[in-house]
Amino acid sequence: MKDNLLLDAFSALSLGVIVVDSHYRVTLWNNWLALHTGIEASEATGEDFFVLFPELRHHRVGVAIHQAIFHNLPALLSQSLHRSPFPLFVEPTQPVERISQAVTIVPLGSEERYCLIQIVDVSTAVHRESLLRDQAHELLAQSLSDGLTGVGNRRYFDLCIEKEWRASKRNKKPLSMLLIDVDFFKRYNDCYGHHQGDECLQTVASEMRNALQRPNDLLFRYGGEEFCALLPETCADEALRIAETLRGRVQSLALPHVNAPARVVSVSIGVATHCQHAHAAHIELIQAADRALYEAKHAGRNRVNASTGGCSDTTAPQWMPHHALR
Ligand code: GH3
Ligand code: MG
Ligand code: MG
Repeated sequence: MKDNLLLDAFSALSLGVIVVDSHYRVTLWNNWLALHTGIEASEATGEDFFVLFPELRHHRVGVAIHQAIFHNLPALLSQSLHRSPFPLFVEPTQPVERISQAVTIVPLGSEERYCLIQIVDVSTAVHRESLLRDQAHELLAQSLSDGLTGVGNRRYFDLCIEKEWRASKRNKKPLSMLLIDVDFFKRYNDCYGHHQGDECLQTVASEMRNALQRPNDLLFRYGGEEFCALLPETCADEALRIAETLRGRVQSLALPHVNAPARVVSVSIGVATHCQHAHAAHIELIQAADRALYEAKHAGRNRVNASTGGCSDTTAPQWMPHHALR
């Protein structure tokens, strides 16, 4: 009576249970396994485990079985390394995607050696984990992008400048920065209204993002109507060329601005390039780009201007000093 109850309980388990003897012969095989392998207990019992699962012979599972039987060592297989070692499927006649598994292997018996293999279906947990990971990625992306324009926000800029600054020093590669400010934008808002001002910022940002074609170039909304492009591994001359492209692309949008001398929306751009003197901090790069931008504004706007001071150095490499475009 008790034995029957035990067998019923064994059959009703919602996890896979296999007992293997010291000749690697299957001694017990429960219903759950029959359901997910398509192999009935009558076929599996007495069969060599590695005939049933040839791919596991030289796998961590095979090693763990050997260690359990001959060295009395239990094993818990790492899920990140061995997500689905057994060919188990929700519907074995349609073997599409393997069930995600948590596998434990435990030694059994004293004189006669066996090992007990337990397989738990962890697909739901793995799926939930992957959803949570996707959501976390999505939230992170949202928290780092600007709500209006979709480019990186100031927080993302702060993270990236630190990272790119360190990479630039480490790799001894130049890092360039463009500070981009929309010209006469207060007048634009006054004339066309704040809503159209927002749309203008979106259009300008999207045009500049499209114009930055290299995958490592980054565009941020630095503040109000001010943007910043970080250009890793970019020398001063190349940065000037890119800045001039951005300026030209915005002008070519031909967004009407009747209260600006150019009659269209334009941007001024300050360019600075990291010149790697020993104690330079990235704030100096920002300040240099800011000064260059100020000068571009002062010189009449709708133009590009490169930093000439502050970040320069007599020991500077070949790509220094900067050349102003005008
Ligand atoms: P300059 O050519 O010297 O840059 O002149 P400017 O008018 O662009 O500069 P100023 O700093 O005086 O004005 C910037 C304006 O940008 C003021 C502010 O209302 C507007 N602005 C800032 N953020 C936004 C925004 O998110 N949406 C809109 N529509 N306007 C913004
Ligand atoms: Mg402005
Ligand atoms: Mg401004």
